[in-house]
Amino acid sequence: MADVQKCAHPSCNCTVTKDGEYGKYCSEHCKEKGQQTELRCECRHPACR
Ligand SMILES: [Zn+2]
Ligand SMILES: [Zn+2]
Repeated sequence: MADVQKCAHPSCNCTVTKDGEYGKYCSEHCKEKGQQTELRCECRHPACR
């Protein structure tokens, strides 16, 4: 079983594997916007649409 955790972006519902290429974020988008308060995540993953 993969070791997963929620994306560190506050508004994101995606899960991220521990050794993902974006660290604790699910995507480049979340990595850039993770420090800001967004009303909703726009990483375009199915969990966030
Ligand atoms: Zn997301
Ligand atoms: Zn995310």
